[in-house]
Amino acid sequence: MDSSRRSFLKTATLLAGVAAVPVTFMSREAFAAKVAKASMQYQDTPKGTAECSTCVQFIPGKTAKAKGTCKVVDGAISPHGWCLAYTAKS
Ligand code: SF4
Repeated sequence: MDSSRRSFLKTATLLAGVAAVPVTFMSREAFAAKVAKASMQYQDTPKGTAECSTCVQFIPGKTAKAKGTCKVVDGAISPHGWCLAYTAKS
């Protein structure tokens, strides 16, 4: 292999690696981003018997009545709230 071809391949490999870094970073950020309450039709009241305290996505607050957080929806979440992503604990 001549040196110019070797140099070209080396540069191309390096550029491909550099280009992949931001894509990987963005993918992780996009994956970690939560959804806005409005887009999930979040409400601070239960929907029938379904409420955040019985949802697999709910992360409880300091007490049973305190607001917690959600793995999916952004912001403070009432244990008695509900949204479209509700998934009952089994
Ligand atoms: S996914 Fe919806 S219902 Fe479940 S905890 Fe989060 S906000 Fe509440």
